[in-house]
Amino acid sequence: LHNTIQELKGNIRVFCRVRPVATYENAPKTETTAALIKYSDQEGREIEFTQPSSGSATGASQAEKSYPFTFDKVFPPTSSQDDVFEEISQLVQSALDGYNVCIFAYGQTGSGKTHTMEGPLNATAETMGMIPRSVLQIYENAKALEPKGWVYSMEGQYVEIYNETINDLLGNEGLDANNNGSNSKKHEIRHGPNGKTTITDITTAVLTSPERVAALLKKAAHNRSVGSTQMNERSSRSHCVFTLRLTGKNTITGEASEGVLNLIDLAGSERLSQSGATGDRLKETQAINKSLSSLGDVIYAISNKDQHIPYRNSKLTYLLQNSLGGNSKTLMFVNVSPLMSNFNETLCSLRFATKVNSC
Ligand code: ADP
Ligand code: MG
Repeated sequence: LHNTIQELKGNIRVFCRVRPVATYENAPKTETTAALIKYSDQEGREIEFTQPSSGSATGASQAEKSYPFTFDKVFPPTSSQDDVFEEISQLVQSALDGYNVCIFAYGQTGSGKTHTMEGPLNATAETMGMIPRSVLQIYENAKALEPKGWVYSMEGQYVEIYNETINDLLGNEGLDANNNGSNSKKHEIRHGPNGKTTITDITTAVLTSPERVAALLKKAAHNRSVGSTQMNERSSRSHCVFTLRLTGKNTITGEASEGVLNLIDLAGSERLSQSGATGDRLKETQAINKSLSSLGDVIYAISNKDQHIPYRNSKLTYLLQNSLGGNSKTLMFVNVSPLMSNFNETLCSLRFATKVNSC
């Protein structure tokens, strides 16, 4: 039944989430867009940003401008992780039913992507992010299907894509910050004839309990933070892809199902509009620009029903090829900051997301 609802809505959806102002930001009212953001409609789909007029003594002034946007859902700063998960739980469920699902978090650094996807470090039941919530829900639902004969196996992988190179976040060798930030192992993406994607030499964890998942997420966070001591804020310059493969067999009816749930914390989008970088920074900037714009192009081509979908233009889209398009379901969170000082980046993010949404 839930799939019928999904299909009516189309297979690509975009949710906008505005994070709250952090207490440490200590921002005066005029510095936040809080007073300048309107959440206008009943269904929670519209959002309007107002850029106040600016004037100067010399007469160069700009009139107040309003920017309205419509998404499949808008989450104001007061929304809880619970509120957000409620809106994605059906999508998560469909992976158990044999669909391939991708859930992305897009936005500038500091806009709340990691908070949405993983939740804070030492999260509680209330603050847990979408990844642990999804895994927990899948456990519960798989268990509920046991009396009907269904037996599921769940395998997890967690990788980072940095400078168009895949690194294993669950590997024991850790990330080597000196080796251009990559694992010593080289990982290749393979697409099998059965539509199954594999990565060579990657750690695959059999997820036997929610505790095991929590331990893995901790390990991944540790691997990433080790990498970042020498390379500041690595997480803002790499994509993190958590993949859950769900294989089900019905021992009574003989039916089988295979679904994949991908949860992706994307690199910060701010570099799309930044220039002047050189050396290693330039290489990173180019890699991020390429993969984020490739992702936009792929999603656009899918929704436009193009014959050719340019999956091969980046590692990210190539890795997710079998989970984007076709029967797959895609959701993108566009995370934005409430600060006026971030207004231009916010506008860029909303425009990117609108292009994704508009087709
Ligand atoms: P990003 O991953 O996009 O760089 P983060 O998720 O790290 O951003 O968020 C930046 C800061 O804002 C963090 O301190 C985070 O805890 C906080 N934050 C983000 N979203 C929320 C939210 N919905 N509620 C409370 N705090 C949030
Ligand atoms: Mg982050």
